[in-house]
Amino acid sequence: MGADSRVAIIRCADYGEEAVYRALSEAVDAAGGLSVTGKCVLLKPNIVRDAPPERAITTHPAFLAAAIRLVRARGAARVLVGDSPGVQPPGFQAKQSGLGAAALRYGAEWVDFTARTVGLSCPEGKMVKHFIVSAAVEAADVIISLPKLKTHELLYFTGAIKNLFGLVPSVQKSVWHVRFPRREQFAAMLVDLAVAVQADYALMDAVTGMEGPGPGAGYPRHIGAALASANLLALDMAACMMVGYPPREIPVNREALDRGLWLTGTEQIVFPALTPADMAVSDFQRIPFRRAGGQLAEFFLPPLRKIRARAEKRPRIQDEICVRCGDCARICASRAIRLEEGGAARRMIIDHRACIRCYCCHEICPAKAITLEKPARF
Ligand code: SF4
Ligand code: SF4
Repeated sequence: MGADSRVAIIRCADYGEEAVYRALSEAVDAAGGLSVTGKCVLLKPNIVRDAPPERAITTHPAFLAAAIRLVRARGAARVLVGDSPGVQPPGFQAKQSGLGAAALRYGAEWVDFTARTVGLSCPEGKMVKHFIVSAAVEAADVIISLPKLKTHELLYFTGAIKNLFGLVPSVQKSVWHVRFPRREQFAAMLVDLAVAVQADYALMDAVTGMEGPGPGAGYPRHIGAALASANLLALDMAACMMVGYPPREIPVNREALDRGLWLTGTEQIVFPALTPADMAVSDFQRIPFRRAGGQLAEFFLPPLRKIRARAEKRPRIQDEICVRCGDCARICASRAIRLEEGGAARRMIIDHRACIRCYCCHEICPAKAITLEKPARF
């Protein structure tokens, strides 16, 4: 990730492939260019769950197609594409989202992130010194994050830095949720991962974003923009400004800013094209902020930590919508979800004492059967 803090915001009204290609080309030029000649480029779209593009859960296939064409046109020798959703079936090809087909159509190689992994050291990591990631990270000379602008129930917002978490293969991601159950800890782990990966660039799909209970169960929201930057933090902060999130209130942004990584404040961001105000979506449905900070108090007063944990929203399964696929139980590293067998009354049960409120089940439920609800007495 470079120190260049230019973020190019370009209008892109729809997912017509030529329109997206033109917008991305313009954005990259405005942000200072992209050097990929003769290099192996890894494009990392966001596939939290493989779902049709109109659901706005994944980066749009037309956006990926435009990104592949763009790096090819600028001389990339080899283009790899991949992601690893929370619950990844064997031989995952991202069929429903159309991303697998888009990769192949434009001559990129689809990479199974679970097939081969490598260790990645992070000596300067605050929470984690060593990650296991897809071997594609090692194979690539240039890594480009392709997030979709979305809300996130745990972290409020998900963008270019959070998107790198998909480099950790499949359900191994859940292990980090268990190890770092508090959102500030989890955000610090994500910043460690970004430091270790050293992604070079980000292209954000903000043509249609997701508002409401994201990143898997929210609502598509037309925004009409494409963003480009060599600085993933600057790009994420610009996107936050577009949808009305104070950038510093997002735990991942705050953690990176406090460490002085890549940027120390919004005043350092340069907008060579449109500004966030030009593309502002004033009524974007954001995730309301919950009680923040207090880590020192929680350290000395463990009961305070428990009270706060109890005040967090809880997952609730709506039996009438649940299709009993079992994905929520598979992804829950706390083993808080089980199938209760009882003849015709088979249903998924959540043990709220074991639940750490990571919301992975909510993210990946294909039926939108899991809602997050505030406990009645809070
Ligand atoms: S709640 Fe969702 S993920 Fe869990 S079994 Fe039901 S449909 Fe599947
Ligand atoms: S039940 Fe859901 S929110 Fe609770 S720990 Fe399991 S995956 Fe996370």
